[in-house]
Amino acid sequence: MNVTDSLLRELPIHALGTVVAATKASTGLPQSGDEYDFYRSFPGFRAFCDSQGNRLLGCMSQVMQYHGCRSHIRDRSKVGEMEDKFDLLVDANDAVLEKVGMLLDEVTGVARNKQPILPAGLQAPKTIISSWNRKKGKSETFRLLHAKNIQRPQMKFKERLDNSNTPFIPKIFVKPNAQRPLPDKQRPEDLDVPPALADFIHQQRLKQTEEDMFAHPYKYELDHFVPAETLLEEVKPFLPLQDVPCHFVTTLDQLVELNEKLLRCSEIAVDLEHHSYRSFLGLTCLMQISTRTEDFIVDVLELRSDMYILNESFTDPAIIKVFHGADSDIEWLQKDFGLYVVNMFDTHQASRILNLGRNSLDHLLRLYCSVESDKRFQLADWRIRPLPEEMIQYARADTHYLLYIYDKMRTELLNSANGQQILLQLVWQRSRDICLKVNARGFSPGELTCV
Ligand code: AMP
Ligand code: MN
Ligand code: ZN
Repeated sequence: MNVTDSLLRELPIHALGTVVAATKASTGLPQSGDEYDFYRSFPGFRAFCDSQGNRLLGCMSQVMQYHGCRSHIRDRSKVGEMEDKFDLLVDANDAVLEKVGMLLDEVTGVARNKQPILPAGLQAPKTIISSWNRKKGKSETFRLLHAKNIQRPQMKFKERLDNSNTPFIPKIFVKPNAQRPLPDKQRPEDLDVPPALADFIHQQRLKQTEEDMFAHPYKYELDHFVPAETLLEEVKPFLPLQDVPCHFVTTLDQLVELNEKLLRCSEIAVDLEHHSYRSFLGLTCLMQISTRTEDFIVDVLELRSDMYILNESFTDPAIIKVFHGADSDIEWLQKDFGLYVVNMFDTHQASRILNLGRNSLDHLLRLYCSVESDKRFQLADWRIRPLPEEMIQYARADTHYLLYIYDKMRTELLNSANGQQILLQLVWQRSRDICLKVNARGFSPGELTCV
């Protein structure tokens, strides 16, 4: 028997033993609201609890950091409430279990020997150790499907790519669906008041402008957004890929036409592909959108400076935007295109609330659509043009089934809450919180959320 096999067999048993022992020990501790309050009246007990508690938080924070999760569990200025701490922990557990699931798949052969598929004409990719996946001296290897000598797309951009590590200023100059207008740019000399008062108002405005500069342009609309109630309806089956037209959007006219179509939909699915191997903050390379009857692949490298026109549909509170794990997508949309989302439903958040155990899109595709997705392109170089057919098909599958998954999950969320909206509301709330994120730069890897 080889060493790896025996290790693989013994490790889970060892891990299970440790977990059982820890659970047993923790249930043996005085319970809160019961003996705990009595014991806590002794200073010695209190001091011991505090020091051990801090030690535990420190360990947890380190484990979370190692897995690239938000880990400020110890920082009282950031996480005050027990509930917030618990949320961080659930996030981290999800991420760790997701990784365990993937590794077990690999061990049991489900995902064994997966080599990246090679688009015709591209060289075999080498395993590249890239700077962003080197963690604290330990290098991990990721398989990157990487096109060499590709023309840097940013050469074509109308504005320079800002890779600075400074706070991000929203790129928005028109605000469709506004309930509050963008901050006023009126000059002091235009005010019909005495000069001294005009000067005072101007000073106040300068202060305000600085705050507005970094503020979320749709905060007011998101804060006041009320999602529509979901009624229990029969879920219509999804259309197979081959029965749905797939449009490649590369020109402004096509983008305008797409926006017109989206404005006639009551729900759409959206996803992005991003490239961050050779650039500090990376760049968004592709946007996939699916309606109930059509799929669209938008070449956002070509249309980068025109993408803002989609704000008309993306911020329309009457159109539901379905994403899966939108944390990064929302940041990329804001940073690269000045695009904002109002009325979003995140199927990753729904999966967490339904306690599906594994919350990746592959898992939902398998569970609800019996579709085996091929994640080999996830780390592909999405700057490649023309996009190879295999990559288009991969990208398309990321949104094609998402509206069906959204229907199924809404039904399950209703059923799990005995027909009440409570669980659905939780998904809307968490999705709204993601939309409210402002794109803060200078984050440390430990601050990145993991999906
Ligand atoms: P997805 O939401 O799965 O379509 O992924 C969107 C983008 O996130 C991809 O184009 C990659 O740039 C990035 N990405 C996804 N998964 C990973 C991963 N495991 N490691 C690093 N980057 C990833
Ligand atoms: Mn995505
Ligand atoms: Zn994707």
